[in-house]
Amino acid sequence: MSKLKKQIGNSILELITGNIVEQDTDAVVNAANKRLAPGGGVAGAIHRAAGPGLWEECKKLGGCETGEAKITSGHGLKAKYIIHTVGPVYSGSSRDPVDLKNSYLNSLKLASENGIKSISFPSISTGAFGYPTEPASRIALQTVIEYLKSHPEIELVRFVLFSQEDYSIYKKALDEILNE
Ligand code: ADP
Repeated sequence: MSKLKKQIGNSILELITGNIVEQDTDAVVNAANKRLAPGGGVAGAIHRAAGPGLWEECKKLGGCETGEAKITSGHGLKAKYIIHTVGPVYSGSSRDPVDLKNSYLNSLKLASENGIKSISFPSISTGAFGYPTEPASRIALQTVIEYLKSHPEIELVRFVLFSQEDYSIYKKALDEILNE
């Protein structure tokens, strides 16, 4: 397992290889679809691990728009909360980076509002939604770093990368951002 830790203000930013469903942070983020339904990738894994009560709770939320975020309880996960956000389906338009940034930002805002001190993110939009991982990683990391600088109530943000290749892309982007 690869792991990297950086201090940002009073908070910690971590990159690890691993599985989002196994994280023991207060919240984990779901790379959700607009219906907040079980599906493939991260959403499928989270719904399977959390159990059927999660879909029952999600059904009542009326879906979620691209770039927005909703919160549920963690059900069978170690995490107390699941924050569901819908990243953009990559199209190459100028909306994509704005929507992806909003997914991270609105997830972080929900975390702050709910007293969540530690949160794990997957690499939103870079699976079935087709966002190239390199530009997505820069948006993800820049948004989180900027937020942490003014929100010390969030003590830990962990990026959980599913492959060594994705981890290497995030690590390179983080090194570049911190050296800019
Ligand atoms: P999206 O639909 O937003 O693209 P996906 O779930 O298809 O979301 O994929 C997002 C990223 O999460 C991809 O890099 C994928 O490999 C990764 N991934 C898939 N399953 C898991 C998991 N259990 N834990 C962490 N990352 C995962």
